Amino acid sequence: MTEPLIQVRGLHRTYRRTRTSLLRSGAEIPALRELSFDIAAGQRFGVVGESGSGKSTLVRLLAALDKPTAGSIRFQGKEITGLPERRLGFLRRELQLVFQDPMGSLNPRLRVGDIISEPLVVQGIPGRKERVAELLAAVGLPVDAADGYPHQFSGGQRQRISIARALAPKPSVLIADEPVSALDVSVRAQILNLLDDLVRQYALTLVFVSHDLGVVRHVCDTVAVLRRGELVELGPVATVYGAPQQDYTAGLIAAAPSLARSLARFDPE
Ligand code: ADP
Ligand code: MG
Repeated sequence: MTEPLIQVRGLHRTYRRTRTSLLRSGAEIPALRELSFDIAAGQRFGVVGESGSGKSTLVRLLAALDKPTAGSIRFQGKEITGLPERRLGFLRRELQLVFQDPMGSLNPRLRVGDIISEPLVVQGIPGRKERVAELLAAVGLPVDAADGYPHQFSGGQRQRISIARALAPKPSVLIADEPVSALDVSVRAQILNLLDDLVRQYALTLVFVSHDLGVVRHVCDTVAVLRRGELVELGPVATVYGAPQQDYTAGLIAAAPSLARSLARFDPE
């Protein structure tokens, strides 16, 4: 048995609600409750659940941008919870993030070429210009996009820029948190196809987070369903979608908009 790439055990995260009264102390809100699961190298691991179910909290913990209240996360066998930032260098290279709102996550004052090469500069990796050109080509943007500023691009193009930046340090894991939720339906299919191609081309492990089960179904092989911070279902996409064990999952499936029709390259069912 090979060791899982990511191993999550008893992961728990509570937030303290801000005090609404001087007399009452803030209540504890459990955002994640006792999550345990593994992600294997090369897996396309979907995380679905309604808004507020804890998806982004999980993403922040997996990326060591936040600390759990309890539990453990091992990355390549190494415990990452509680590590100081100076010892997280390997994770900062190996694991990259793409967010929902590319405008909010791209520095508006930097040229696209500098945005994409920023992680390379930070890590002292040479050959920036060639690498930027290579990355722009990989995400389907023209090479002169490097000279533009984020506001000069469309939503879909900006998400391509975020993906290029994420790929710059040659990560092994890409975590995408609602990467197409802010995009027009027609553009969604293009970005999903792009992610699909890149995951294959660079042999990435993908963690794909969405409230939209239709989207997850088409990019993932495994799906984890979160409900109010609890992992209520986990299994191969075909099994979970074909025969959901939980009413909650069945409800999410029934409510999912049919994206299939807009996905040019995927067969609609
Ligand atoms: P999702 O991404 O699935 O929409 P989140 O992980 O953002 O869910 O949020 C899960 C729960 O944790 C929600 O109840 C949310 O209000 C709460 N929460 C998230 N971040 C914070 C925070 N920084 N402070 C307090 N509560 C938070
Ligand atoms: Mg979220």
